[in-house]
Amino acid sequence: MLTWNALVHTLISSEDIQRRVREMALEIHRDHPDGVHLIAVLKGAFVFLSDLARVLPGPCSLDFMAVSSYANNTSSSGQVQLLKDLGTGIEGRDVVIVEDIVDTGLTLAYLQRILRARAPRNLRTACLLSKPSRRKVDVTVEYIGFEIEDKFVVGYGLDYAEQYRNLPYIAVVGD
Ligand code: 5GP
Repeated sequence: MLTWNALVHTLISSEDIQRRVREMALEIHRDHPDGVHLIAVLKGAFVFLSDLARVLPGPCSLDFMAVSSYANNTSSSGQVQLLKDLGTGIEGRDVVIVEDIVDTGLTLAYLQRILRARAPRNLRTACLLSKPSRRKVDVTVEYIGFEIEDKFVVGYGLDYAEQYRNLPYIAVVGD
């Protein structure tokens, strides 16, 4: 009988992720020495946020948003829907969006547009993963963990039909 993770293959190990997340935290701290307001995009960014926040040297506050751009499948519909908004305002604050992966860029472009309209002092973005070959819109990401090829990945918060989010590494399904 197959075990639950037998169909996935490691792409980025847990050790490599931890090392890179620590570097990203230092980059974010360098640009925000007085503190930062992290906005994580649910559900996929919950693991990245949790590791990033714990290695960020300076003051930090947190909030969450949820959007839906994929309906239980592996291709982008291009439709972005706001499912959960922030709990507090961001006017005049130094904000970093924390996202799991930037693929076509449509989700991030939407988030940056609606958050910029709320007049933060700075709005920057941290993504653990980026698939540059898939980009449909030009979107600025100041902090990128890893650039990857056009493969559907799971783990470290990312799912396939709500499974695999709890893998401590990034993997490819059935490659
Ligand atoms: P975009 O709008 O940039 O095309 O897509 C962003 C969202 O699509 C991500 O936040 C993520 O939820 C989902 N996504 C894109 N590529 C992948 C992938 O390879 N694996 C998983 N699990 N989700 C992905």
